[in-house]
Amino acid sequence: MAEDAWTRVKRRLRAELGEDVFSSWLARLELDQLADGKAVLSVPTRFLKSWIEAHYLDRILSTYRSEQAGLSGVSVVVRSAFRDPAAASRSSAARPAKTTSGGEPALAAEPSREDRVPAQATPLGARDERSTAELAGAPLDARLTFESFVVGRSNALAQAAAERIARNDGGAAIYNPLYIQAGVGLGKTHLLHAAGNQARAGGRRVIYLTADRFMYGFVASLKAQTSHAFKERLRGIDLLVIDDVQFIQGKTIQQEFGHTLNALIDAGRQVIVAADRPPGDLESLDERVRSRLAGGLVVEIAALDEGLRAGILSQRLAAVQATHPGFEVGPAVVAYVANAVATNGRDLEGAINRLLAHATLTGTNVTLETAEVAIRDLVRNREPRRVRIEDIQKLVATRYNVSRSDILSERRTAAVVKPRQIAMYLSKVLTLRSLPEIGRRFGGRDHTTVLHAVRKIEKLIGGDTALSEEVELLKRMLQD
Ligand code: ADP
Ligand code: MG
Repeated sequence: MAEDAWTRVKRRLRAELGEDVFSSWLARLELDQLADGKAVLSVPTRFLKSWIEAHYLDRILSTYRSEQAGLSGVSVVVRSAFRDPAAASRSSAARPAKTTSGGEPALAAEPSREDRVPAQATPLGARDERSTAELAGAPLDARLTFESFVVGRSNALAQAAAERIARNDGGAAIYNPLYIQAGVGLGKTHLLHAAGNQARAGGRRVIYLTADRFMYGFVASLKAQTSHAFKERLRGIDLLVIDDVQFIQGKTIQQEFGHTLNALIDAGRQVIVAADRPPGDLESLDERVRSRLAGGLVVEIAALDEGLRAGILSQRLAAVQATHPGFEVGPAVVAYVANAVATNGRDLEGAINRLLAHATLTGTNVTLETAEVAIRDLVRNREPRRVRIEDIQKLVATRYNVSRSDILSERRTAAVVKPRQIAMYLSKVLTLRSLPEIGRRFGGRDHTTVLHAVRKIEKLIGGDTALSEEVELLKRMLQD
């Protein structure tokens, strides 16, 4: 059966290229058609199509061939966003890229400012009963521990504070709350999980929540009118850890966040939060909540210095080698990568994954030369070029198969809203234009719309590796 061979191919690609590479680039590949010895695969965007063609097509073909005798070729097309997903297995005729309207299907239409939180929370309505019965914290990742956290100058204070709190079994809260502030990929989530794991190992009751969980849980319980139970449960814990508090939005929820915080702190329960900005910059939060957050210990994790980057790389490398014993990377390559990838922990992980993929693909050892090629897309221009909003709009439109006038238009269909939000986000991060100015350049929109788009994309990037890689690539294309 064609389907079985394809399923095996995907499974093997996942195993051989690693979960990160697979979920970033290949997870959305579907088999559209298998005819005349040729397989036609489809992806949702032109961007993915060109990326896969440039990087993975040979690999896919060779893997597929070994599963399906007589296969002569593989091609990738863009599938329509509105196609019946089941059609893939029915071998519907593949549509050529030019005539499809790509775009990401998953995003809901742009909500108005007022209904942002309810809009996000509504889909969970169906789970009301479960969410109210107990407050489901997010699981802690057992790999994110203090042992696997590499300490350097930029994160030593944050690490020490978190570890001190986590090991403080039974004693009164020390710094309350501990507020960890750092940009993306600098280790906030790692540190929060480490503290949670450690405290739990010491027998303390720990709940780890992302801002989303906090909002969903609370909104769901409000709907079921058991917010009392929700609060009781929250207050019956020893350590509450909340990640990415910059995403807590919505007036009722902010208030409730404030009450919860007060109740816990006043009862001597320990709270640790992380955010990408200082408490004073959490514009969506009430002034009293901000000052409460700032009233404990605020520590910043600064950009990772080169020594720390090398340390993280070596640590990651050792972890990967445990499952890939033949994977050798010499100290010169580690030093090179630590110097070249000057961004954050996520990119360092990405670099290791690329080196591994490269070594596995070519069956050769990693040398300085191959490393340079493998991580080229992670190496930033140190001096980013000035980018024009018009160029951003054009590139994003092309990538998502919409027109620039769609982006400027009033249309609110998902296929247009997401590229528009990405373009606004890129305009904010790549140009020096103000929010009102960006709004004007996007068909005369209000600055709050731009702000909403920027937050939305920041948030999506935080949780979605594929999207964050996609946005990173768009950035690089604009800056090259
Ligand atoms: P943030 O939550 O600040 O965006 P993460 O905690 O998710 O960042 O870190 C991104 C990646 O980098 C994770 O894989 C994390 O394990 C790794 N990382 C970041 N800092 C360190 C560190 N000091 N030691 C080991 N790994 C780190
Ligand atoms: Mg995080």
